[in-house]
Amino acid sequence: MSKKLKKRLRRVIVALAVFAVLEVLKVAGVFDALPYGLWIEFAAFLVPYLIAGHDVLAKAWHGITHKQPFDENLLMSIATIGAFALVFFPEAEPHMAEGAAVMLFYQVGELFESYAVGKTRKSISAMMDIAPDYANVMRDGELVQVDPYEVAVGDEIVIKPGERVPLDGVVTSGRSQLDTSALTGESVPRVVEEGAKVTSGCVNMTGMLTVRATAAFENSTVSRILELVENASEKKARTENFISRFARVYTPIVVGLAALIAVISPLAFGYSWSLSVQSALIFLVVSCPCALVISVPLSFFGGIGAASRLGILVKGSSYLEALAQVDTVAFDKTGTLTNGTFGVVGVHAPDSVDKDLLLSYAAHAEAYSDHPIALSVVSSYSGTIDRDKIEEVEEFSGRGVAARVDSHRVLVGNDKLMDAESISVHDCQLVGTILHVAVDGEYLGHIIIADMMKDDAAAAIEGLHKAGVRRTVMLTGDREEVAAAVASELGVDEYRAQLLPQDKVAEIEALLESHEGLGKVAFVGDGINDAPVLMRADVGIAMGGMGSDAAIEAADIVLMDDKPSNIARAIRIARKTLRIVKQNIVFALGVKIVIMILALPMIGISTMWLAVFGDVGVSVIAILNAMRCLRVKR
Ligand code: ADP
Ligand code: MG
Repeated sequence: MSKKLKKRLRRVIVALAVFAVLEVLKVAGVFDALPYGLWIEFAAFLVPYLIAGHDVLAKAWHGITHKQPFDENLLMSIATIGAFALVFFPEAEPHMAEGAAVMLFYQVGELFESYAVGKTRKSISAMMDIAPDYANVMRDGELVQVDPYEVAVGDEIVIKPGERVPLDGVVTSGRSQLDTSALTGESVPRVVEEGAKVTSGCVNMTGMLTVRATAAFENSTVSRILELVENASEKKARTENFISRFARVYTPIVVGLAALIAVISPLAFGYSWSLSVQSALIFLVVSCPCALVISVPLSFFGGIGAASRLGILVKGSSYLEALAQVDTVAFDKTGTLTNGTFGVVGVHAPDSVDKDLLLSYAAHAEAYSDHPIALSVVSSYSGTIDRDKIEEVEEFSGRGVAARVDSHRVLVGNDKLMDAESISVHDCQLVGTILHVAVDGEYLGHIIIADMMKDDAAAAIEGLHKAGVRRTVMLTGDREEVAAAVASELGVDEYRAQLLPQDKVAEIEALLESHEGLGKVAFVGDGINDAPVLMRADVGIAMGGMGSDAAIEAADIVLMDDKPSNIARAIRIARKTLRIVKQNIVFALGVKIVIMILALPMIGISTMWLAVFGDVGVSVIAILNAMRCLRVKR
């Protein structure tokens, strides 16, 4: 518990104790027996009232003098001052005790609220407590701790058991198990050894590792995640904004209504002034919108926290809200539904062509590309790549690459690329992605590569359908045959093949248009060329592990562990959050409206105590309900 919270708790306890003593004296009739008993009672109850409520009164006054009076502080101040003021109506029952009680319980509610918000924030920041404090590097033959910012790409760092991985890198020696749960929610440790990629933020559990840094600290996973989380709270959901706007309009309305009740009912209907004022005060107390003002943002906050425990980063509550309404999900294929690590299945070329030479040309031309295809071609090439031989590299998004290798002009890509250079190609009967290779304008042959489906890709599509997503669409730049095979294997409803990056944007726009007024459209992608599509979709979802920085930047939601099955989980969390938000809105407004109606002088059933429940009790229940958002089912 924070210091501030403790101080407040102490204050509320003191006020409660004083209040309890006075209440006992009052019930025992002590005040009635005294001369000027009413006024002594009045002064006595002012003590706990001021202990509990002096800051609320000060805030209300501050609001009035700064021309922004309409908030719950004003409501509480008018209502409680009014309750005390009833003492001036000789025929009315005095309500000093209730006035003090309203303020007291209001503070109890506030206390509970700061506790709940603090707890939610803490459990989120505990999850986000992934920032490493230092990195161990060798300097002059000695291991020293340095700031992770000081480590350069290519430096070797040592990670001892129990330490957090400070930067993204590749293991150069050692073997260990990594706890990745803070990043991905995955509880099974990952075994790493020489050559394995390690992600910053994971905890090294068993062995000593030496790791070569592949990214500077500011570009490492940890920094990127922390930046995303810090910015998340700025993007407010529409419901959230609505609630704060609502409170601003609603407060003056209820103050006005209360004034009307107090004035009209005696003048027009002949009720006593004291009864009318009392009704108006009850009206004011119960009208306080804090239950919503607090519980709605808290729910979104909890939902984002729950998602982040599963390795799903939601960049703002507005995206959680949009995600809850998603009914169409479009996917990129390579890297999103498939692993993006291709194996060479075959090389087709006339007998006159040396197949190793063909592979060597292709690997050299691809050497500078980050595309999953390029990385796979390079890694399956058995020879060494001589970078001095490579010049004039050009990449054609969705088509392939061109480069000068050994002063020959080499083209590697699909038929679109070859068409553009008017090179005729041989068709291939095998199912797989085809890389045609041409050298100096002559067709040489093609390489067939095949990708592996992600383990959970089929389950991901099934999960989406189960979660109520009506339509799944795969958008790919790959061949028709490959697209059809993948789509039918995974159970994707529709597919579009041979799309250039700009065609993907057009496809998303067509989907958005046909969904006007219906559910929202999400797009899931990983590559640089997916960034425009991610921005265009209602909800952009990027693969955080293997995804490009551009995609992660453009996306609204990032899946840290690249598991497409997390999309359905994210949708479930989003729906649950929105359901809880709606429950709270209906419940809080419902109870309040009923108590308000019962408070009208014509009915007059509500008491000040009921009003206190309508305010504080409803807030506490709404907050407890909101905290359910934080809980996740795996
Ligand atoms: P996807 O939509 O499946 O993610 P891309 O749009 O990235 O695929 O690429 C579409 C097609 O363009 C690939 O199937 C491949 O034929 C070709 N292509 C793209 N980049 C390269 C590259 N670096 N080398 C060879 N071919 C490429
Ligand atoms: Mg892709």
